Order: sequence, then C-alpha cells, then structure tokens
Amino acid sequence: MTGASSGIGAATARRLAQDGASVALVARRRHRLDQVAHEIAELGGRALVLQTDISDPESASAAVQDTLDRFGRLDIVVHSAGVMRLGSALHTTVEQWDRMIAVNVAGLVHVTHAAVPYLISAAATSPREVGDIVCVGSTAGRLARPGSSVYNLTKFGLRGFAESLRQELLVEQVRVSLVEPGTTSTELMDHLEDATRDAARWQTDGLEPLRPEDVADAIGYIVTRERRMAVNEMLVRSGDRRR
Ligand code: NDP
Repeated sequence: MTGASSGIGAATARRLAQDGASVALVARRRHRLDQVAHEIAELGGRALVLQTDISDPESASAAVQDTLDRFGRLDIVVHSAGVMRLGSALHTTVEQWDRMIAVNVAGLVHVTHAAVPYLISAAATSPREVGDIVCVGSTAGRLARPGSSVYNLTKFGLRGFAESLRQELLVEQVRVSLVEPGTTSTELMDHLEDATRDAARWQTDGLEPLRPEDVADAIGYIVTRERRMAVNEMLVRSGDRRR
C-alpha cells in the first residue's frame, strides 16, 4: 500500500486490514505510518511499517522485498502515493514539476516493476487465485484544466499505463484497476500555496467532498471480487452539491 501515511492510502490500509489483509504500509513519514499501524493493530489487524521514498528505485524494490520477507507473498498492490502541485507553467518551478513526475510516475513504475513477478506467483499459488494492482488515478486523468498540466500529464498517463498492463497481465490472473476519485478531503491540497489552493477550491465550491473512506470502500470492493470479475475502472465523484 503506497501512500499509506495519510488520506486515501491510510483509509484503504485500514479498510483492507479490516477485511483480513496483512498490510505493508509504504510512505516517507515514519510517525504517521506508525500511527496507522497502531490503528490497524487496535482493529485486530496486521501491519508492517516500511518507511520508503518510492521515487528511489532501490528503496521501492526493497519495500517489495521486505513485504515478501514478512508476509510470504504479495497478493495486492495499491498505488496511492501521489503529489499535486498546481500553478501555471510560468509560475511553477521545474523542481515542482519534476517532483510530481518522480512520485506519480516514476514511483508507481518502480513499485510495479518490483511487484509484478510476485503478484503473478501469488495468483498462481494462493487461495484467492488472483492478484490485484489498483492505481489511484483522478478525475484529472480525464479532464484537463489550466494550472494543472503536469498533474494532468501524470494522471492521463496513468490511464494508458493501467490499461496496457491490464491487457498484459490478464492471462496471469493479475487484475489491474484504475480508481478515479473526484475531490476528496485529504492533505493533498495542504501542500499548495494559499492562492493556488483557493483557486482550486473555487472550482469545486459547493460540492461535498468525498471522504478517504469512500475511496477506500471502492478499492475494497474491487479487490474482493471473485476472480472471474475484474473492475477495470471506477470513477467516484461527489454525489452532493449544495445549491
Ligand atoms: P495525501 O497527501 O493525504 O496522500 C499522499 C500520500 O503519498 C502520502 O501518504 C504521502 O506520504 C505519499 N507520498 C508522497 N510522496 C511519496 C514518496 N516519494 N514516496 C512514498 N510515498 C509518498 O493525499 P491523497 O490521499 O488525497 O492522495 C492519494 C492519491 O489520490 C494521490 O495519487 C492523488 O493524486 C489521488 N487523488 C486525490 C484526490 C483528492 O482530492 N485528495 C482526488 C483524486 C485523486 P509521505 O508524505 O509520508 O511520503
């Protein structure tokens, strides 16, 4: 579970642990991972804290290996780690753009590459007889807006990545799914400058945001289907707009 230290990733980790999964918690902030692990233990679940920066390929691969060493197999990978920096091309630094590519694209690729052989082997030998990769995309993978070019690039690109991988791994009984949430109340926007955050909030003004647990619910649904059924894509948006 990448991005497990907060928001959608933390909620999904709790949800899957409640459903009986042993969960490896991957992100950089150790104290937040410890907190999620503690919550999971209180729910009677099992969690492993792996403080990892997935933008580094060796660290990402080590996180996958550590998961194997502890739990013996890897059935499900949920890619929730992501960063969003909004702002026009003129007013965004190239470092901010690079950071989004490093986490949303390179980090995803590093974890996937390390995990695929083990997912295939788990699908062939485990009681579930199926493996799962769930990618957390975004409505920003379907709809581009000004000030979001590189975030759009990462999320539009994710759709092609997930679909290609889905076709490739179908024969191996590894399902690849894409969940595309709309605005969800997490820390994602906390990293934006005030003016950019206000502009982004204005776009969704009046919408009741999703809760991280809503997205976790969608992911929980996907990975608990019988092996004959694959949910390829799920667009999850607010169902409540105040007048
Ligand atoms: P959060 O900011 O709460 O979560 C982002 C997670 O990514 C954190 O756990 C963070 O952990 C982790 N992360 C960031 N950089 C790295 C890194 N280099 N290595 C490992 N982990 C990293 O936001 P959300 O829960 O909202 O975001 C989760 C996903 O949902 C993202 O992909 C986002 O694009 C997507 N999304 C969010 C929406 C929203 O409105 N919130 C809407 C649509 C999609 P740490 O800092 O500890 O490393």
